[in-house]
Amino acid sequence: MAYDPDNIFAKILRGEIPSTRVYEDDDTLAFMDIMPRADGHLLVIPKTPCRNLLDASPTQLSAVMATVQKLGHAVMAAFGAEGVTIQQFNEAAGGQEVFHLHFHVLPRHEGVRLRPPGQMGDMAAIAEQAEKIRAALG
Ligand code: 5GP
Repeated sequence: MAYDPDNIFAKILRGEIPSTRVYEDDDTLAFMDIMPRADGHLLVIPKTPCRNLLDASPTQLSAVMATVQKLGHAVMAAFGAEGVTIQQFNEAAGGQEVFHLHFHVLPRHEGVRLRPPGQMGDMAAIAEQAEKIRAALG
């Protein structure tokens, strides 16, 4: 399947639609998920195009995973979490809805379930959570 340059995350990368960014480097961007399944739920994407894990280059994967690890530590510190869940979906049958490679980073607390998918978050609360993550990144 070909990469669609008009997918939502490509538009976020180009600044055509707003996002709450928490971290970026030359190769990757991390921003808050607008339908958070946990407080602090964020997404990490490569800045270069690929649909998902299946067509990503080793270079894209290694850059994204380094940022996923960095943000995993940051969300645990920011929310006093005891663990972190990483989710990643490939193609529609695999649960993927936005076709630009992304990893979900979800801070977790013992015994607290993820919220159901598809529920819009409170943008003021998401902005506060983003600030905590930026502070934890130092
Ligand atoms: P997936 O493709 O991993 O199944 O789901 C895409 C994820 O992107 C969902 O968690 C959804 O909440 C998130 N998402 C969809 N549209 C937007 C958007 O416009 N901005 C942000 N920040 N997240 C989005």
